[in-house]
Amino acid sequence: MKILSFLNTHPMPKPLNIQALVGTRSGKLTLVGQGNHIGKHRAVLCSCDCGKTTHIYLMHFRRGNTRSCGCLQKEVVAEKNRTHGKTKTRAYKRWSWMISRATGKTDRKLYFDRGIRVCERWLSFENFYDDMGECPEGLSLDRINNNGNYEPINCRWASNHVQSRNRRNNVWVEFQGKSMCLTDAARAAGLSPGCVIQRRIAGIKDLFAPSKNRTHIEKWTGKDPIAFLKERMKQLPDLDDPTFE
Ligand SMILES: [Zn+2]
Repeated sequence: MKILSFLNTHPMPKPLNIQALVGTRSGKLTLVGQGNHIGKHRAVLCSCDCGKTTHIYLMHFRRGNTRSCGCLQKEVVAEKNRTHGKTKTRAYKRWSWMISRATGKTDRKLYFDRGIRVCERWLSFENFYDDMGECPEGLSLDRINNNGNYEPINCRWASNHVQSRNRRNNVWVEFQGKSMCLTDAARAAGLSPGCVIQRRIAGIKDLFAPSKNRTHIEKWTGKDPIAFLKERMKQLPDLDDPTFE
């Protein structure tokens, strides 16, 4: 038993003349000397073409498994991104969203299950970019026909505002004698669309009475809420005087 356990133990690595290997190369690495042992494996010290030094397993060096200090991998990834160099652009972000929607990875019920797909040409970001160009700030990718596919004739850069007007479940309402989509009407009244929708659901007759909620007004008009409401009161004298705490 004692003999067997002796046989099973790993012998220490045999002395090897590392000096004879000094100067040999693997990828960007040049062996410069004996390295610190890593566990029970022999390691060598290498200098990388990028200027760093690194300890790696001798066997990895010899087999060519390790070919840099780690900088090579980073370069390959960077090169992949450099091929179009646009991964940080708005267009690329929107292209990625489009792909994940049209392939059912995101919002599956709203896109993939409704049969919305991306045309073959646009599976390539380069083609997409050639057709659409960079996305102007604040805009996103809009399908003109909401039931249509992501393809050049059905897409444009549009504001979220245009997009929401284009939604399937758009609600048309009467505001100051005009028929408008709910979003436009809500903004014209200095309200958030959500506020007007809630009033509509609650069966409140005057959907566009000024809101006491200051944040809505500030958000949608960019104006001071009290000043805005005073102005609105002059235009619509039949509305109740809003009060603020
Ligand atoms: Zn390196």
